This record gives sequence, C-alpha cells and structure tokens, in this order.
Amino acid sequence: MPFLGPDAFGARLGEGHSGPGLGGECYLAIVNQPLWAPWRMEYILSPKSAGCVFCDYAKADESAFAESHILVATEHAYVVLNKYPFAAGHLLVVPMRHQSALDALSDEEADGLFRLTRAATTCLQRAVSPGGLNVGVNLGRAAGAGIAEHLHAHIVPRWDGDTNFMPVIADVRVMPQHLAATFRHLYPFFASIPGRHAKEP
Ligand SMILES: [Zn+2]
Repeated sequence: MPFLGPDAFGARLGEGHSGPGLGGECYLAIVNQPLWAPWRMEYILSPKSAGCVFCDYAKADESAFAESHILVATEHAYVVLNKYPFAAGHLLVVPMRHQSALDALSDEEADGLFRLTRAATTCLQRAVSPGGLNVGVNLGRAAGAGIAEHLHAHIVPRWDGDTNFMPVIADVRVMPQHLAATFRHLYPFFASIPGRHAKEP
C-alpha cells in the first residue's frame, strides 16, 4: 500500500474541542484552515478511561510497540502515532513521566523531549516530504489538550492546499488499517533515532 500522506486533508488540528454547530469539528489555534476529520467523532464521543494511556505507552516494551504504534522510545520520551490523526503521519512526542506542565519536567527531561521532537521532525520530513509541519503543545483543556494531564507535543505534516484526504478515510472503521500502514511506512525512517524500537513493524 503506498503511503498516502501527500493526500492528507487540510485540517484544524487539536484535540477534543467541538466547534460551534459543526458537530465536533476540532482545531488548534495555530492552524488556519478548517479540517474535516469525521473519524475524530469516535474520539470525542468515546468514554475516556480512568487511567492514562500515555503512561501505559511509557510502560510498554518493544514487543508492544508496533501494536501501539510507538516508533521509538528514549530514556525520557517516546514518539507514537496519534490514534485520531488530523493528517497521515500525525505524531505525538510524549515525556515518559506523567506531568501536565512543562516546568514540571526536569531540565534533562525537557531536553530529552525537545531533542526527540527535533529528531522526529527530521525523520517525518524524510518519510513523507511534507510542505510544512505544525509542531506544538496544547497545555490545558482550554488550549485544546485532550489528555491535558500528561503533556505531549504534536507534529503534523502539512501540504499546500491539503484539503483532500485519502478518499476512504471518511469511514472511521478504516483507521486501524490506515494507522498500521502509516506505522510500517514510518518505521524504517525512525530507526536512525537512538533508542528502543519495535521488533517488527
Ligand atoms: Zn500519564
């Protein structure tokens, strides 16, 4: 299956913010173009578990990386595909430790988070050749964070006029297959980042 990234649709990105009258349109303020991401309704309407999924990922070992779509884990942070992406290749960079504020991270953890974010942007650019990237952190629910209690950085590839997503994507049921295909495409590019990787993509 070819990688479908350049067909990614224009998006407002972000988490859990319902736009007025638009039935769950989601956006982040740093993006100007409206995004139509119907499968995001699954996330918005789904019951949220009591535990922290980012802490679960932090505890995962390499045998669970492919299933969880974790591309690489370092001492202080990891890169995982956003399960409810606004574009193909939408990544999250997550500190290992459960903290909601940047200043709650130690200098070492903050360095580790940003270094991994930097490395991930390089790998993503090589993998999908986007026209640009949105990189950002939503701190707090008012800022659009869906999982505000465990901070994380978003990296979203963008293309000029990216208004058309893969035609099949309107059906939320295709997302698991889409994520698996995206993971397999990105996996070799992230092998260059020192850290732990999935045994098999
Ligand atoms: Zn957590």
